[in-house]
Amino acid sequence: MVPGSEDPYANLREQLHRAYLLKTTLGLLDWDQQVNLPAGSAALRSQQSALLATLHHEAAVSSRLREALEAAGRSTPGTDDDRAAVVRLARIDYERATRLTPAFVREKTEHQNRSYHAWARARETNDFGSFAPFLERTLEFAREEAVLQGWRERPYDYHIDLHDPGLDAATVESLFNRLKGPLLELAGKLLGAPIDIDDTLFHGFPAHDQERFALRVTEKLGFDYRRGRLDRSLHPFCSGDGHDTRMTTRFDPDNPLDSLFSAIHETGHGLYGQGLPLDEAATPLGEPVGMAIHESQSRLWENQVGRGRPFWRYFSPLYRETFPEQLRHIPDEELYRAINRVSLNPIRVDSDEVTYNLHILLRFELEKALFDGRIQVNELPREWNRLSESLIGVKPKNDAEGVLQDIHWSGGAFGYFPSYTLGNMIAAQLWYRVREEIPALEEGFARGNFQPLLQWLRDNIHRHGRRYDTGELVKRVTGNPISPDFLLRYLEERYLPLHR
Ligand code: ZN
Repeated sequence: MVPGSEDPYANLREQLHRAYLLKTTLGLLDWDQQVNLPAGSAALRSQQSALLATLHHEAAVSSRLREALEAAGRSTPGTDDDRAAVVRLARIDYERATRLTPAFVREKTEHQNRSYHAWARARETNDFGSFAPFLERTLEFAREEAVLQGWRERPYDYHIDLHDPGLDAATVESLFNRLKGPLLELAGKLLGAPIDIDDTLFHGFPAHDQERFALRVTEKLGFDYRRGRLDRSLHPFCSGDGHDTRMTTRFDPDNPLDSLFSAIHETGHGLYGQGLPLDEAATPLGEPVGMAIHESQSRLWENQVGRGRPFWRYFSPLYRETFPEQLRHIPDEELYRAINRVSLNPIRVDSDEVTYNLHILLRFELEKALFDGRIQVNELPREWNRLSESLIGVKPKNDAEGVLQDIHWSGGAFGYFPSYTLGNMIAAQLWYRVREEIPALEEGFARGNFQPLLQWLRDNIHRHGRRYDTGELVKRVTGNPISPDFLLRYLEERYLPLHR
């Protein structure tokens, strides 16, 4: 068959593939910027990225893609689920991309660049006032985008749906309200019986040994290093897709647990990427559903698996083999308690998995209030500090430690924070489900066998790509809608016995 002619569906795939190649190349440039790029080379990189972003946008809104979509839509028989799903989802993407004018995209991108630098400066100098005008403009862009996309009346819902298809603020609010009371009660109990650990014991873990151990752990969990890498960056992340997955972590000689759990967390993201259908990589069936499902994967491996006793029954001897001197004075039980210590922290990313969720409740409250117009940008620091005290129980020393701590709002990523706690809920929900189906799962972990969990996630989550919405997928796999009950139960079962 002549390429791009007879078979409308093959033609559609070809158009999608072109956009996919541009998008993944752009992603690689971004990965390189965060991992390798010399500081003096940033100017050229920003031009290269801008050109590729333009080419990608052109491919995503091209008339050839539109025609391919129309033709494939006419010819796709309703019985072929895969084809119908690809056409349906690709049309949503196409329409979303075309509703944003090139001028809007350009102005927003330029503003985001300036806003990022303004935020980084403001955080360094602890000066929210200098960042506030940028954040106001960012919020305007977010509202304008919602209007362009046809969500004029529900701008915050638009941004939530963008990160987690099918969810909205009312659903998130009702889940968070059910979580809040019991979570605060649990956090109060745990913080009332704190675990004392001598942090100076975790000292002098050479970066190259940490890296060696992290590679060993992540490979054992199932990460395929023939089509992926683990590198170092300031902030850990995972990018790329199943054909080429790029994870990063950082190695602090005096904070080895942070480094290790960052690596395991990113591995959870990476395993999801590697488990998506490879031959659908260029279509929506080869893409992740959204951020909540993505986070459910990273957190399941990091927390339920990586912070559990069976995991350490297997890895403790190997950890000690790698760091015989450093771990000599830390018995296994002490190590386990250090890994699962709950304590108050004003910083989200440094928080334990219990109080972490309180940080998310705070950000969700503020985002809602911003979009409802109940508070203005210049009132954010005051509101942040008030909520931080009443909800988390800790008052930030200053704005750098408070409202300026996260990068998200500087880039206009509203509606993203809820995904973290939704991800925690879903992870716990999957955890109870998979152990019902595979009762000996954790006994396997203790012997170094993590394959059954990975295979279960492959079969139940990964292989579907974007076929189902977030809530639909959870319901399908677990039999229940998204619920906070499993997270609460899991946190109580793991943490209460440790904090007596
Ligand atoms: Zn993550």
